[in-house]
This record gives sequence, structure tokens and C-alpha cells, in this order.
Amino acid sequence: MDENGRRSEPRAPTAVMHDAVVTSALESAQAAEALGMARERIILSCKMSGVQDLISVYRDLARRGDYALHLGLTEAGMGSKGIVASTAALSVLLQEGIGDTIRVSLTPEPGGPRSQEVVVAQEILQTMGLRAFTPLVTACPGCGRTTSTVFQELAQKIQGHIRTNMPHWRGRYPGVENMSVAVMGCVVNGPGESKHANIGISLPGTGEQPAAPVYIDGERAMTLKGERIAEEFQAIVENYIERTYGG
Ligand code: SF4
Repeated sequence: MDENGRRSEPRAPTAVMHDAVVTSALESAQAAEALGMARERIILSCKMSGVQDLISVYRDLARRGDYALHLGLTEAGMGSKGIVASTAALSVLLQEGIGDTIRVSLTPEPGGPRSQEVVVAQEILQTMGLRAFTPLVTACPGCGRTTSTVFQELAQKIQGHIRTNMPHWRGRYPGVENMSVAVMGCVVNGPGESKHANIGISLPGTGEQPAAPVYIDGERAMTLKGERIAEEFQAIVENYIERTYGG
């Protein structure tokens, strides 16, 4: 900073700080190599707490060296702010091919689970199409066509059921993590999305017949009616998993 201050045209203090962080990381790695550590055993981490700082520093690290890089936005915060900030920073870098391992740092709610960090990290990678961990449930946001919270409850139930069973399914049904499920809130626009998923259901919206069409691999397979739609849909999902990934 002192040197920079003496220049006729000083650089912005942030740029000097970024440069110092990157230089320090690279020099530390080079020192480790000089002491005998193999290059492939080194992963550099330059965590920052600002989204733009993190992106800038890691772009520079990737440009100036070829060490493996660990990405993480430190002190990202609580709740949606922490998730959004981490996702914004990591996504930009991952999209540019920068980063070999990732960490999401979230402040849990009092008494809340620490595992949310892992779920968010996995969902970043999966929604970007980089790696699949668990079947994802697509659900519409709901609108004036939806009459109740049934589709939200069904989406939540199916997602919870999948997460609970994944440790067991992972070994038994190879490839199940690539499956997609859609839970939509009306039969006007729901079937379109349902057809793009492996299994999709459209629950009846305002003024619609109390029937829920189910699509399997793009084809209308059946229509569910009555009070036990959630249980029946769950059984259809399990049956599909057994048939498709159980071989
Ligand atoms: S699928 Fe139907 S209920 Fe869901 S947001 Fe679209 S129009 Fe609304």
C-alpha cells in the first residue's frame, strides 16, 4: 500500500489487496514445493467475504498459476443472503472452469443443521449441470390458478422422501441421482413441464376437475384421483426407480 501510494497514479486499494492475496498464495505454494511437497498435493484457497472480491482473486489465481483451487465465499451469512451470495460467486467461477473443490459457509439458524451447507453446495453443482447428487424435484411457483397448498406439500414431501432415501438408493440404484421429478400446480400449464421430467404430476388448479394426470418419460401414464394422490404418486416414483435403475 505504501509503495502504491508513492506512485504518480496509484492503483485502487482493492486491486493492491487482491494482488497481495494472490501473490502470497502463489509464493506459499512455491515455497511448499521447494520444500518437497508434490504439486498435485497442493490446493490453494483464497477465501474472501465479498462476491466481487472472490471472483476477481480467483480469476487472477487461475491466470497466474495452474494449482488446484478450492472455492469458498467466507462469512457468507445467514439464510437466503448466504445462499444467494455463495451461489452468485461460485457459479460465475465454475462457469469459467475455475475451481476444483468448493465449500459453502452458512451461519445456521440457532439450533439449525450444519448439513445445509452441503445441500447447497451439491445443489449449486447439480443445477449447473456439473455433477448430480440426488434426484431434483421441479415445482412451479404457484399462481392465481392454484387453489390450495397441496402441490407445495406434495413437492416438499417427495423431495424429503428422496433425500431421506438417497443414502440407501445410491448403492442400490446406480444413476438414480440423474432422475427428475416435476410437481406442478395446475393441469393447464403443468403437463408441459411434467413431460420434460422423468415423472411429472399436475395437480388440479382453480375450477379444474379433481384429477391429477401423471406423465412418465414424456407420456401420459395415468390419472390420480381422490384423497391419496400423494401416497400413490410416491409409490409411482418408487416403482419407476426400481424398474429403471434397479437392474
Ligand atoms: S403450472 Fe399452473 S399453477 Fe403452476 S405457476 Fe404455472 S399456471 Fe400457475
